[in-house]
Order: sequence, then structure tokens, then C-alpha cells
Amino acid sequence: TISSIPLVLQKPGTENREPISSADDGIVPETIPASVEVRGEVYMRIADFEALNERLAEAGDRVAANPRNAAAGSLRQKDPAITASRALRFFAYAPGPSEGVALSSQWQTPEYFRALGFPVNRDRRRFTDFEDVIAYAREWMARRDQLEYEADGIVIKVDRFGQQRELGVVGRDPRWAIAFKFPARETTSRLLDISITVGRTGVITPGAVIEPVNLGGVMVRNASLHNADYIAERDIRIGDYVTVKRAGDVIPYIIGPVADRRDGSEQPWHMPERCPACDTPLERAEGEVAWRCPNFGICPAQLVRRVEHFVSRGALDIVGIGEKQAQMLVERGMIKDVADLYTLNAESFAGMDGYGPKKIANVLTGIADSRSRPLARLIVGLGIRFVGEVAAQALAGAFGSLDALMAASAEQIDDVDGIGPVVAGSVAQFFSLEANRALAHKLKEVGVQTDQPIVATRHSDALAGSSFVITGTLPSLTREQAEELIKSHGGKIAGSVSTKTSYLVAGESAGSKLAKARELNVIILDEAGLQALLGSAADAPAAEEHPAETPAEPPANGQLSMDL
Ligand SMILES: [Zn+2]
Repeated sequence: TISSIPLVLQKPGTENREPISSADDGIVPETIPASVEVRGEVYMRIADFEALNERLAEAGDRVAANPRNAAAGSLRQKDPAITASRALRFFAYAPGPSEGVALSSQWQTPEYFRALGFPVNRDRRRFTDFEDVIAYAREWMARRDQLEYEADGIVIKVDRFGQQRELGVVGRDPRWAIAFKFPARETTSRLLDISITVGRTGVITPGAVIEPVNLGGVMVRNASLHNADYIAERDIRIGDYVTVKRAGDVIPYIIGPVADRRDGSEQPWHMPERCPACDTPLERAEGEVAWRCPNFGICPAQLVRRVEHFVSRGALDIVGIGEKQAQMLVERGMIKDVADLYTLNAESFAGMDGYGPKKIANVLTGIADSRSRPLARLIVGLGIRFVGEVAAQALAGAFGSLDALMAASAEQIDDVDGIGPVVAGSVAQFFSLEANRALAHKLKEVGVQTDQPIVATRHSDALAGSSFVITGTLPSLTREQAEELIKSHGGKIAGSVSTKTSYLVAGESAGSKLAKARELNVIILDEAGLQALLGSAADAPAAEEHPAETPAEPPANGQLSMDL
């Protein structure tokens, strides 16, 4: 039976440089053989392939579609100097006609070659049970992404050469070896069209529409083309047969055309000169790959994306409005900017799929509620380039209102802890545009809160006389909430650490303020420490000029905590 046959499993892997083990079948050659023919496989690592393609593209040469083609093409060069310049690698795995070599099994072979100094593949295993072979092969389907080269399968061989000879060969196929192929991740299909999408910030992204093709068990109809340069560099034309690749969770993308399948009907593609949504001439900033529709805020395609972003969870969090509704509202002319969301009424949603009276009422309530979101969320909602939740919190904390942020110069914004020059420049640029300033005013007009919430109640005077600086991201409180909490107990908030600072409340990614606080021996609290301080302060009989605690030893390992 087959299970009694020792099998050797061999698959390409990293070079094996570890010392030879005293493995039972390992053979250390005592003498150098008179002649040995070494067979194996030449390959190119993915990193080397990418570097090669970069060089080829720079020199204006045709790039290779994949590492396999790159390796084969490198070997076929007429000029051996070119071949020598390519980062080719080799795995030895089979002996050819030789003299003075006594090998009796597949398993011995790589050990022997390695002892002679040839690179061999480390990823090989020997089994006695075929079920284990299958399990191992399946395991490699998941592991193949960890290899530094591409592999399309595993070769399973009967181990003993004697048994290999007995089994023989049918036609050209040995009966003692079989390939276990991984599901394909590369295939060929026809490029039917190149579609264009306009993003929230106006970036134009080309996408491939291909003849539907099964790729590793998934039907693929659309694939990424990255950008216009990518299409031009690879000379990808509409009508081309193209190689489509899908790896891991990455969306499928087009590698390049299969140039020798062209019949002359293929059409080169060019980035349109005007935005498909608003007909504004497209622009490309110097040094940038992306083309943009500069009609920022007005272009309907951008507006749909901006509405989607504005209502999203990290921003104003309006439930019941998604991509479809945004599209519909923009198409119907109901909204010309995100502030118009606050002018919607029940009629605006009339006739919209799945929008009955109850759902409409819920959406309107959601819109109304979103007026009082924290300032940081509103800043996120504006969709300023490079401004995410963390930056928005820093800006909200530092400026306190949209008006103040709008009035700030790039330098002033750059001075905010946690804000770098790129974000600062982007924010200043955003508010330098009249349309964006108008939008900010309009948001205020329609009742959106553009200031930090005012501290409504004073809970105690427990922190009176203490000055606090907050830095970094706290685990549960937003910057505003923490400030509110401190103020409501009589504490003061300052923007920078000085000798007058009583406490630094530090969260994640705290930077220069933390260092400064340590230097000045300011008490450092994390969020839990702040809560504990408030808890104990609230119980304290009277507020003191300064809390009695001695300054905590600044923690050396970056962990922030304080015992009270
Ligand atoms: Zn446009």
C-alpha cells in the first residue's frame, strides 16, 4: 500500500545554511566526487524582482510580469554579463549523470548537495503517511505568503530511488512524483474598459473592468490599476489580455498586458482631461502621482464621498445615511454641501427605497442629535487631508473652536503638540479656500456646535489652584472630556508644561510635553490616575493650594501610573 512507502516532500524555500545535522540519512561526502551533475531550479526573490522592475522602468525598458518571467528572461540574455547582473538564485534538488556519487534516496540528495556547498531548500519533510502529506501541503497554502519568493505548489516524491525506478515513467511523467498545485493567484483575462472614480479629496482612481474570471476560487470582475503612471509604464491598453493577480487579502490588480496576444485592435488609454462628474479640468500637483478634480466641495462625485465621510462613525455618526442615500440626495439636488444635511426634512426622503415614516423620523433625529458632537468629530467630518481622529482631537483641544482653528496660521497649528508640518499645512490650506470657510460658517448657522462644549456644572472646588496639561491620547476620555472633567472640579487647563504645572495627564503617544514634565518633576498621571485624583479629591474636606502628595517618581519604563 502507498502508506508504507516513505515519501519525501520537497518545496522551494530559503537557502539552507545551517550546519549539517547528523540526520539518519544525511550523507557527508568523504571525498569529492569525480563528476557530479546538479539539477535544480533557478528563481528570483520577490524583492529582487521588484528592484529589477524598478531599474528597468527607470531605464525605459519593458518590465517583467512576474518573478518567473524575470528569472527566465534573465537566463535567456545573449550577453552573459546581463545575466550575471541579475539577482538569480538556485536550489539544487536532483542529481544528473555522475561519477563517484552513491545516493539511494531523494531525502539524501539535498543533504549531499548541501555538504558539497550547493544551496538547497530547507522546506522539505519526509512522511510515512499520505494523510500527513496532504495536511502538510494544505498548511503550505496558508504559509506561502511568508516565503521570500513565489511558489505555485509542492512536489511530492517517492523517496527511494529503487522504488522510483520500479514505478517508472509514463510518457514524460514519472509515476513517483506529483505536484500539489496551490489555487492560482494569477490568471489572464481581457481588459474591457478602464473606469474612473472620484474620491472625497478629488483623487481620480482608474480601475480595470475585466471579463469575469475565476481567480483562486473568487470571481473577479474589477481590478486595481493603481494610477495613470502605472498604466502608462506598463503600456496597458483597452482590449489587452492582461495578467491579473490576487495575493492574500489585497484586492486583485493588473500586473500588465500579455503583449504577444495583441491583434492591433487594442486602444491606448489616457487619463481624461476633465472630471467625469463635473467636467472640471483635472490637475496634477508637481511630484504627485495622483490626478485630482480641483472642484473641491462642489464636484458631485466628491460631494457624495464627503457626505459619506461626514456621516461616518468617527465623524458626525449619523445612522441611516450611507453611500446610496448620499448619492440620491446629491443627485436630487437636496444637498450641495454637508451642511445641507441639517436642512433635510421628511419630504427629502420621500420615495426613497426602504424609507418609511418611522425610518425617516429616525434619520432626522440622528441628524439633529449630530449637531452637538464634540468639536474633534466635526473636524474629522470636514475631511481635511491627513487629519484623522488623533490630529482632530489635538486641534480641537488646542483651539477650542472652529473659528479659532480657521483663524490660525500654519505656524500656529504646527505648534500644537502632536501636529506636524504636513497636517498643519493641510489644515491651513483647507481653510484658505473660501468655499471651506463658507462651509464652516454655514455649519454654525444650521446649528452645528462648533465650539468645545461649555462646562455646564461645577462639581467641586477640589482641584482649585491646580494647573493641568493634557497630552497624548487617553484610553477612554477625549481631550475635551478630560478638560471638562478637570474644569468642573475647579482645575485649570494650560497648553504647555511649566514650573507652574501641577499635573501632566499623559495618554498614548505623549511626546515632548511628557519629557518636559519629567524634567521639571511635574506629577504625571494617566487617565486612571486622573480619575483616582478626582475620586479622592472629591472626598477631601477642603481644597488645598497644592495637593499634599509628593511628586511621583517619573516612571522609567514609559508606563504611566500613579499611586494615590
Ligand atoms: Zn469633479
